[in-house]
Amino acid sequence: MNLLHPGQDGYAEEITGFQTSVPTAPAVVVAAESAEDVAVAVRYAAEHGLPVAVQATGHGLTAGTDGVLISTRRMTGVEIDPGARTARVGAGVRWEAVIEAAGKHGLAPLSGSSPDVGVVGYTLSGGFGLMARRYGRAADHVRALDVVTADGELRRVEPGTDLFWALRGGRDGFGVVTAIEFGLLPVRDLYGGSLTFDSADVPAVLRAWRTWSAAAPDTLTTSVAMIRYPDLPMVPEPVRGRHVAQVRIAFLGENGDDLVAPLRAVAPALADTLRPMPFTESGSIAAEPRQPHGYHGTNATVSQLNDAMLDAIVEHAGPGAAAPPVLIIDRLGGALARTPETPGVGWDSAAEFAVRALSVVGDDGVAAIRRAHAKLFDALAPWATGRLLPFVYGEHAPEEVAESVFPAADLRRLRELKRRYDAGNVFRAG
Ligand SMILES: Cc1cc2nc3c(=O)[nH]c(=O)nc-3n(C[C@H](O)[C@H](O)[C@H](O)COP(=O)(O)OP(=O)(O)OC[C@H]3O[C@@H](n4cnc5c(N)ncnc54)[C@H](O)[C@@H]3O)c2cc1C
Repeated sequence: MNLLHPGQDGYAEEITGFQTSVPTAPAVVVAAESAEDVAVAVRYAAEHGLPVAVQATGHGLTAGTDGVLISTRRMTGVEIDPGARTARVGAGVRWEAVIEAAGKHGLAPLSGSSPDVGVVGYTLSGGFGLMARRYGRAADHVRALDVVTADGELRRVEPGTDLFWALRGGRDGFGVVTAIEFGLLPVRDLYGGSLTFDSADVPAVLRAWRTWSAAAPDTLTTSVAMIRYPDLPMVPEPVRGRHVAQVRIAFLGENGDDLVAPLRAVAPALADTLRPMPFTESGSIAAEPRQPHGYHGTNATVSQLNDAMLDAIVEHAGPGAAAPPVLIIDRLGGALARTPETPGVGWDSAAEFAVRALSVVGDDGVAAIRRAHAKLFDALAPWATGRLLPFVYGEHAPEEVAESVFPAADLRRLRELKRRYDAGNVFRAG
């Protein structure tokens, strides 16, 4: 175990993650290499009355810490059991390592748009991935977790226990997961990619996607993103300087070209990357950036997407908006609407769509972004039913976030369990 203090060589590198706009200044960073390192760190923090935070990749950093930061990035073990179709991975593993290892056996995990994201943080947040409408949330496929709880004990957490329920979707505040075991799916290939349309076609594309995706089979998981690309030389043609609508598709059935024909007919696409591909290339569907940056984001699940809502989305996030966020609308439903075999913490699984906004933090800071996002989500409020935990970025009001993310009964149970497992509030960073 390596301990790093402020000013020491390696300290700054160790705390730097993907999200750069959340200031953090831990009193000590524990560069953990094993579950035992994590247990020692938690016991030390509890004895000294210090809060514990944990970081794998920094994609989901919401609040900084002045206590003990347990950095899990060295815990990178990946074991695949092809016969049982399961994976067991360490706390610092990113999806790309699992995708690659599982792919060798014709298997795939329930990973999301970016292979760069950490498996544990993603799965504990619920995990809404590329095959979500077919197989549900990643959290629902967890088989077991190794967790260091606030008393410094390393526990194996299995189905039928309170912690198994709370960690899967509740994410923060119960312990540090040192390893996670989960099911893999027999998926080798998919039909995927995106269709990108120019600014003038944005309103028509949104409406066409809404209609088209309503009749979609569960084997299709799809979203539409609106993105303004700067007019800079490093931005590739044909999107440079344009505000586009990009329909993203991951389809597990046959004849993908037939399925997307109605979308291709809406308008001429600026770019069309749809093709059969091995699951190992699924990160190319959304092609999300890998370079660290500062961002702030929130979202709402909604019961419908009527014309008034689409008009509000175009007004506040479309080509004419002054400072539009990246706006992503996900079609929910399918397996996401069904009760899984071993449910974790709930969310509004009856919602039809999720609307997510994400803005890069610039000179105006987070306050200006919050105001801009509030205009959009205030307009959607009459139809809003909840919020998805993984897509809350950089928010600093945990109570408000918790109340919008968790159903009331689940929040009560989470609070009860928090009192039972962490009465001293050792894990108070999340
Ligand atoms: C570019 C991008 C793409 C994304 N795509 C998707 C997507 O398709 N679907 C989706 O559902 N989400 C997605 N997310 C959200 C992502 O799942 C969450 O931000 C998640 O929390 C990131 O986990 P991490 O470990 O990578 O990040 P970190 O910032 O390292 O961790 C985030 C939080 O997870 C918890 N955590 C991490 N490790 C542990 C541990 N070992 N024990 C206990 N708690 C832990 C902690 O609360 C920590 O603060 C995306 C995020 C980004 C930035």
